[in-house]
Amino acid sequence: MGITGGIGSGKTTVCQIFQEALGVPVFYADSEAKRLILEDPDLRRGIMDLFGAEAYTEEGQYNRAYVASIVFSQPEKLAALNALVHPAVEKASLAWHQEQSQKGAVYTLKEAALMVESGSHLHLDYLIVVIAPEPLRIQRVVQRDGLSEEQVQARIRGQLPEADKLALADFVVYNDGQHLLLPQIWHIHQQILARLKSQN
Ligand code: ATP
Repeated sequence: MGITGGIGSGKTTVCQIFQEALGVPVFYADSEAKRLILEDPDLRRGIMDLFGAEAYTEEGQYNRAYVASIVFSQPEKLAALNALVHPAVEKASLAWHQEQSQKGAVYTLKEAALMVESGSHLHLDYLIVVIAPEPLRIQRVVQRDGLSEEQVQARIRGQLPEADKLALADFVVYNDGQHLLLPQIWHIHQQILARLKSQN
């Protein structure tokens, strides 16, 4: 099952509840992508072919600022980078899901900020979208990351509008400070279990 939402909507917070309260394993695609960019030799080679050796520092760290400066002005390079990273993350998530299933997980969650933008929701059975009013999202990210309101707004503009994600949602979590999270998550969990049971 996929879970997404705009920056500051509370995806990670919701995932933590699934994980800790209900024992559902969670694959954090964005942090996994960062790990693979560092550790997957094929991916490192591909990125160096695309951006040159400067894509990594002499100490072997990923030179995010350098790569970002290139893809910012060259959208075709961003598409080429995504075409390398997305399949690598997809492969890792599939292997992880199979491993979790063998360990007895009834279902798993995959969290990604740009899940709909990248199309990775197409490989999943269900999609949860976490939503919250934009001023609250901005306030949360300003507090969490120390960014300015303008910086957060710029990031929001780089993401698909919430309404486009909602149109694809099987389940919605309202993380607006008005609705309690745990009952909503419990309800989704029960519905998923019921659907899985009816399929077997
Ligand atoms: P990003 O896309 O930036 O990774 P996210 O959608 O994963 O964000 P979180 O990191 O879960 O969002 O939440 C953003 C911030 O808001 C965090 O500091 C989190 O602790 C806080 N937050 C989220 N939901 C709530 C809530 N219901 N009550 C209080 N704080 C919350």
